[in-house]
Amino acid sequence: MKYIIGIDVGTTATKGVLYDENGQKVASAQRGYPLIQEKMDQAEEDPKLIFDAVQDVIFSLSQKRKITAISWSSQMHSLIGLDENKELLTNSLTWADNRAKNVVKKAKADGLAQKIYQQTGMPIHPMAPVYKLFWLKQEKPKIFSRVKYWLGIKEYLIYRLTGKLVEDLSMAAGTGLLNLKTLTWDQELLSQVGITEKVLPKLVKSSDIVGSVKEEYRQKLDLDENTKVIAGASDGYLSTIGVGAIDEADFAMNVGTSGGVRCLAKKSIIDKKAQFFCYPADQGYLIGGPVNNGGIVFEWARKVLLGPNESAEDFLTLAQSAPVGSRGLIFHPYLGGERAPIWDANARGSFVGLTRSHTKAEMARSVIEGIIFNLYDASHAIIQSAGKPHAIRITGGFVQSDFVRQMLADVYNLPIIAMKNSEGGTLAAMFLGKQALGLSPDLSGIRKFTSEEKVYFPNPENVVRYQKILPVYREIENDLAKSYEKLAYLQNKLQ
Ligand code: ADP
Repeated sequence: MKYIIGIDVGTTATKGVLYDENGQKVASAQRGYPLIQEKMDQAEEDPKLIFDAVQDVIFSLSQKRKITAISWSSQMHSLIGLDENKELLTNSLTWADNRAKNVVKKAKADGLAQKIYQQTGMPIHPMAPVYKLFWLKQEKPKIFSRVKYWLGIKEYLIYRLTGKLVEDLSMAAGTGLLNLKTLTWDQELLSQVGITEKVLPKLVKSSDIVGSVKEEYRQKLDLDENTKVIAGASDGYLSTIGVGAIDEADFAMNVGTSGGVRCLAKKSIIDKKAQFFCYPADQGYLIGGPVNNGGIVFEWARKVLLGPNESAEDFLTLAQSAPVGSRGLIFHPYLGGERAPIWDANARGSFVGLTRSHTKAEMARSVIEGIIFNLYDASHAIIQSAGKPHAIRITGGFVQSDFVRQMLADVYNLPIIAMKNSEGGTLAAMFLGKQALGLSPDLSGIRKFTSEEKVYFPNPENVVRYQKILPVYREIENDLAKSYEKLAYLQNKLQ
């Protein structure tokens, strides 16, 4: 039997899944690593520790088996600098590192940020390596000038295993330096940053074979010269196709701690208000919006409204006892600022419309409704541009109950397909491996590896109720938006 390893390089851990040649999961392994957060807005990782974790995972899965390919699903927007000998000069500045926020503020004021979005599809946010590069140049000029190669974490791992410096389009798109029209590094932006194409990885397709594993690691990891390393892709792209959302007909939504809505469009689409990203991929363009406030807000409400010892199920039971629409109590879930759809780091949460007759149950329900209204709004701009999907395929810890799934169907007025597989990223990485080895001709083949758990259809009565509430939710959101900066300022002062 031959096997493919799909590796998901996450922010807190790397997970590997061993698949047999029929695409069946055989084994899995996981290794964690710390996030370095010593300074305000810093969120770094040590690339060497991640490489160690990846080696551990590969070794525990290879075990004298015939591994034909190792393929990747990776966290996006990280930035690492290497010197002329390709040794590390920086840690990995992850997507959660916000130290470039003043660079973004300035770029917004002088129009550069809007231009970057228009040319690359990368939303206006400090997570983008393009802004991190400006920040490093300004704050750490010595390191900036010593760096001879800039790359992200997946590129670093592939470099260590194969000696090749390559980046697939779906990851390159997340740097904010890839031109959406030409699908090459954007020369104008590179010169604005003060770098040339020579310091960036060579662009390849996600399903390209990068090469074989270097001799030293073949021995160490129990692999041989027939093990091919595949370029792989971003976790955003792979978790979308990994649930079978392979064209505009289906959207993919994952809501765990945070969340995201994505679809694979045939053409690139840029939003006038820069509400969603547009990243090229091997097949089509990934359009989507990441949201900060998913299960993390549910968790907050469970603890604060019920108590730290009550379970998620207790909270759901309480919320379920309240009527649809929580009798006009509206909750905005921006406890952690927000990315899509409002892209405002200063946004704050709110209950609006409280009366003396409102109950704890209604507060609980309005929290869940607010999280879903926000997801709906993040999807709304995409729906307006890419068209209404036939269904939404969902995964993640927040969407595991019938109650939440039905609410999604009622707010979206669409069928909601709960997917069985929560490992879409490694599954799709494995599929890229199959494509690279010539075993699967096109993307549609991925559907046979995915399975649906249950479909939820909208309840027409509830749909009507939610359609009355949504415009009010938005109106309040617009009214509150102008106070967020002042609120954030006040909160910092009063700490
Ligand atoms: P991640 O992979 O992002 O860490 P998961 O998909 O495991 O997240 O989901 C974890 C989140 O799901 C937590 O924020 C938690 O509060 C939330 N959660 C856990 N159980 C439930 C539940 N029954 N209903 C809604 N949310 C839940």
